[in-house]
Amino acid sequence: MLLHIDEETILDLVTLISGENGEKIVRFLLKKPGITDEELSQLTHLDIKEVRKILHKLNESGILYYDLAREKDTGHRIFKWYISQEQAIGFILTNMRKILDRLEERLEYEKNHQFYWCGTQGCRKLPFEEAMDHLFKCPTCRKPLQLIDNEQTIRALEEKINEVKRHLEQLSKVKKIEETEKPEAKAPSKQKESSKTTKTKTATTVKK
Ligand SMILES: [Zn+2]
Repeated sequence: MLLHIDEETILDLVTLISGENGEKIVRFLLKKPGITDEELSQLTHLDIKEVRKILHKLNESGILYYDLAREKDTGHRIFKWYISQEQAIGFILTNMRKILDRLEERLEYEKNHQFYWCGTQGCRKLPFEEAMDHLFKCPTCRKPLQLIDNEQTIRALEEKINEVKRHLEQLSKVKKIEETEKPEAKAPSKQKESSKTTKTKTATTVKK
């Protein structure tokens, strides 16, 4: 295989696509290719439905694929999961660009809006218009809403955007290397012929 993405890059991308739970799952998958969703659920202590949701999301992104088997006694379907190294890059590139677009949209939004928050963990931060609609009281806990400084969010977003851009750059390089390393199709050998074609030049007349 000409192409190899290192494990950390895969994990970074998985985190971007499916969050920390996705990363947890793929860590186990890297250690044990062919692992089942049930095993992953036990190892990660995540609900089986959540595990399946993440696995299918990563499957749609082309990062994972599965083999379908049947249990001998019960006939139950068993999904065995694998990381799809070869296919990953193209799909990842597509997804990374989407993620990058979304992050940049979010950054613009953060830069152009003021946010209000009650200070309670778990409560939502509201943009000005919405805060006004709620008369500057949190719709969840009813505490007064106060203007918050989203400078930190903006900085975090900018960092994330740079990170994704770096990954994209690296992956583009890997992809280019892969393309150039592909053996070229050999042309059938034939006797040497002298080129008889002469290029015709088109003369243009300019009227003055
Ligand atoms: Zn609140």
